[in-house]
Amino acid sequence: MTQMLSRRGFLKLSSTAAAVAGFSSIPGTLGAMDEIKKQYKGNTKFTPSICEMCTSSCTIEARVEDGKGMFIRGNPKDKSRGGKVCARGSAGFNQLYDPQRLVKPIMRVGERGEGKWKEVSWDEAYTFIAKKT
Ligand code: SF4
Repeated sequence: MTQMLSRRGFLKLSSTAAAVAGFSSIPGTLGAMDEIKKQYKGNTKFTPSICEMCTSSCTIEARVEDGKGMFIRGNPKDKSRGGKVCARGSAGFNQLYDPQRLVKPIMRVGERGEGKWKEVSWDEAYTFIAKKT
């Protein structure tokens, strides 16, 4: 005898399966952070600094584990800001470690909008800018 699975039954089954899978391993960034935390356990220190994600320059503390910045929180000693950071500030390390972050000057080689660029030295970039101004 063949039994048809109702739409409601299918949804119940799918959500149960997803919940079981979710508890067995944490996917994505959170899962990766869990692994990283295990590797660096015991080598943590908080370093005071300033957030530069906008012009407010909030005071922060960065959790540094074996020389690598891992987490940003508000500096609890700064009573004027209540030791808090906004979501943008706490995401600061995402920008720092973004593999697509520009760390060297690039110069357009094609037509505007073509998306063609070449990496140039700082001297080349400054010379180009100086000639334009
Ligand atoms: S924590 Fe938020 S408001 Fe403060 S400087 Fe960073 S981005 Fe700006």
